[in-house]
Amino acid sequence: MSSQKATRQQTKEHNRDLVLKTIFANETISRAEIARVTRLTRTTVSNIVSSLLEEGLVSEVGFGESIGGKAPVLLSLIADARYLIGIDLEQDKFIGAIINLRGEIKELVEIPTEKKDGQEAINLIYQLLDQLLATDWTPIIGIGVGAPGLMNLKEGIVVKAVNLNWENLPLADLLRARYRLPISVLNDSQASAIGEYVHGEGYDPNENLIVVNVKHGLSAGILINGKLFQGDGGGAGEIGHVVVQKDGIFCRCGKRGCLETLASTRAIIQRAKILAPEAKSSLLSKQSDEISLETIIDAFLAHDPLAEEIVFEAGQYLGTFIANLISILNIQKIILIGEMTRFGDAWLQSVRNAMSQSSYNKLAQNTVIEIGKTDTHSCILGASASMLMDNYSLLFRNS
Ligand SMILES: [Zn+2]
Repeated sequence: MSSQKATRQQTKEHNRDLVLKTIFANETISRAEIARVTRLTRTTVSNIVSSLLEEGLVSEVGFGESIGGKAPVLLSLIADARYLIGIDLEQDKFIGAIINLRGEIKELVEIPTEKKDGQEAINLIYQLLDQLLATDWTPIIGIGVGAPGLMNLKEGIVVKAVNLNWENLPLADLLRARYRLPISVLNDSQASAIGEYVHGEGYDPNENLIVVNVKHGLSAGILINGKLFQGDGGGAGEIGHVVVQKDGIFCRCGKRGCLETLASTRAIIQRAKILAPEAKSSLLSKQSDEISLETIIDAFLAHDPLAEEIVFEAGQYLGTFIANLISILNIQKIILIGEMTRFGDAWLQSVRNAMSQSSYNKLAQNTVIEIGKTDTHSCILGASASMLMDNYSLLFRNS
């Protein structure tokens, strides 16, 4: 191909992706509105829309309001035109799902990991994928995997995942060779951030957003202008092992006083185990041998003072830390996900209060902290959606 021809082809694909992205971001939209948003000419938009209709990706779904003259035809993405697979490699189970273009889960498979690691853990992923690919949902256009640990996203390599005993594992290559589909491998918290961003509340393609995942560990996904910010070494958002308390308790990473030892579910369980035997009137003292996240949640919901103290303290440490993020990045929308959100609005309020108290007023006033909407499915939703965000052309492969 001549370079001029190549450039024309690139422009064409770029415009097509722009139009698709705009349709994707709206429930319904007219051709004129697409032209306004994308700044492409009406003719270009019409031509692209014709090809999208032909591909079966978009349909005409009725008429919008007329602003003098003919009422415009409204277009909408066909949710079930294509499917993606999302995988979440959790500590105690691997979850896989077939998901349509609007983030609806069509099929969900869970396999307990039973502490398997190394090659055995890879075999579990194969088992999960074989099961999903044997279903009737077609066409499947790609597989996205959210894995714990440090990733090399460009090459799809798991640099280090301690729990799975993987080091420099070329997971994307392994899966591509076996399934002959486009594969993306990303960090589970970064995947969750994308899940919440695309399929949470109100998707805006150019938004800034921080999603903080608070479970047994802590990590964050940072989106800047709608793009995942991974940092120079792919580790942006690895906030769990920042030391925030000098001479604090020992962390599993070997340091003391990490954020994880103060704000995570692991932290509150540990704290409850220490304090419960002394707090005779607490609901937790009666079960001090078998304190778990569930028993703390039960006690918290029953307004047990010790449970409340422990959970609010954890919320305060998180809120104070978030104040740091805000002062560095001035991103005004913070979403919290992960098991800790099961403590609900009361915990959320403790996070908000601590953030306000620790921030420059003007920054705090304009910052919103909310609990996410995708519940426990953010990782599988994000792992699948990330493929599309990177490359809308995937949609055209199986046409
Ligand atoms: Zn640590």
